[in-house]
Amino acid sequence: MIVTKFGGSSLADAGQFRKVKQIMEMDHERKYAVPSAPGKRGSGDDKVTDLLYACHAAAAEGKPFKHILERIRARFEEIRSELALQVDLDAEFARIEKDIASGASRDYAASRGEYLNGKLLAAYLEMPFVDAKDAVRFDRDGRLMEEETNALLSEKLHSLARAVVPGFYGADPDGNIRTFSRGGSDVSGALVARAVNADIYENWTDVTGFRMADPRIVPDAQYISTLTYRELRELSYMGASVLHEDAVFPVRKAGIPTNIRNTNDPKHPGTMIRANAGQDNAHIITGIAGHKGFSIVSVEKDMMNAELGFGRRVLQAFEEYGISFEHLPTGIDTMCVVVHEKELAPHKDEVLARIRELVQPDTITVSDHLALIATVGRGMVRAFGTAARLFTAISSQGISIRTIDQGSSELNIIVGVDEDDFEVAVRAIYDAFVRM
Ligand code: ASP
Repeated sequence: MIVTKFGGSSLADAGQFRKVKQIMEMDHERKYAVPSAPGKRGSGDDKVTDLLYACHAAAAEGKPFKHILERIRARFEEIRSELALQVDLDAEFARIEKDIASGASRDYAASRGEYLNGKLLAAYLEMPFVDAKDAVRFDRDGRLMEEETNALLSEKLHSLARAVVPGFYGADPDGNIRTFSRGGSDVSGALVARAVNADIYENWTDVTGFRMADPRIVPDAQYISTLTYRELRELSYMGASVLHEDAVFPVRKAGIPTNIRNTNDPKHPGTMIRANAGQDNAHIITGIAGHKGFSIVSVEKDMMNAELGFGRRVLQAFEEYGISFEHLPTGIDTMCVVVHEKELAPHKDEVLARIRELVQPDTITVSDHLALIATVGRGMVRAFGTAARLFTAISSQGISIRTIDQGSSELNIIVGVDEDDFEVAVRAIYDAFVRM
C-alpha cells in the first residue's frame, strides 16, 4: 500500500488536480493522499500559504486583509468550479475570515491552505477527509509529538480504506492549530506512511528526483536513482533541498522507502530513498552538495596534543556565544573549527579573546568566505583512490583546498575552498567522477 504526498505545485490549479487524480488511479495501491496548499502556477505567482501569512500579518496590525483573502478564495473557487466539486467554500471562507479577524494564530491562518486543498481533493478523489487537527499532535511549545501522532493517525486511518489527510498542520492538546516549519507537508506525509505501515511513501513534486549536483552549477547533472537515508542526510545538510529534513525520521525508523516523483512526468521512476541500498548506481559517488558562507578558526599551540581538555575549552568559547560548529579538522598542534560565518561575525572579537583566555594559544587565525563541498557516496569506502581522484580534480583547476574532513562514516569527504572557487570545484568533481 502506498501513501502519496502532493506538493504545492502539484495541486496549484484544476489542471494539476486532474494529473493527481490520474496518478492515484494508475495504481490502486495508492490509498492515502496528503496534500500541500496550492503553490505557484508559474514564476511571479504566489503560494497560497504566503498569502495566508500576509492575511494574518495585516490583521495583527489592525489593517484590512479581506482583499488578500479574496485572492486566496478566487484560487480555490477556480479549482472547485472547474472540477464541479460540491464543497461549500462560502461557509469555509466566512469562518476563516471571522477567525482571522478575531485574532486567530499565525499557524491557524497558514494551515487553512492545506485544510481547504484537502477538502477539495477529498471531494475530487471521492475519499474521506480526515482533519489533521484530530490526528497530528504537537505539544504546547509547538514540537511534534511523534508517538502520540502515530497512535492517533493509526487509530483514525485503521477503519478507512482510503483517505485524504491535509499536510503541514496538527493541533496541540488544547486544540490550537500548530504547523511544521515551511515545507512541512513532507513530514505529515511521512507520519501518515508510518501510521498505516505503507510499503512506499511517494512524494510527488515538480522535479524528477535528486540530482547528482545542483543544476544551477552543473546544468545537465544526472538524476540519482537510489539514495540511502544516510546519504540523503549528508546531501541535504549541505544544501540539496528537495525534501523537508524532518521527513526522513518517521519513515526511516519504520523501514519505509521514500520515492521522489514528478507529477508532471509520472512515468519517470524518480529517486528511491531506502535505509540500505546496494552499489547499484553507475558511479562511485552518489552526489555532490555544498554551500558558501563558512569561516575557519585555526588555533595553534605547540604540544597542544598533550594538553588535556584543550579541545573542550576551545569549543566552550564558541558555545558561550551560542555558535555551533560544523566541522572540526584537527592536527597535532592545530585545531580548526569550521563555523557559519554569519553566526561568528557578530561575536568574532569576543570569541577570539575568550579562546586566548582559555587556552593561551600561540596563534589564532580566521579565514572567512569559505565554501564547503561534500562529496557523498556509499560506494566510496570500497573504491580505491577516491580521495586522490577528488583532490586531483580540484587542484588541477588551480584551486587550493583550504580544509579537508573525511567523515568517520567514510560516506563523505568534505573539502573547503574559497567561495570564488566553489562552482569550478563542484564542476571539477562532477567531471572527474561522472563524466570521466
Ligand atoms: N504550504 C506549506 C508551505 O508552503 C507547507 C508545504 O507546502 O509543505 O510551506
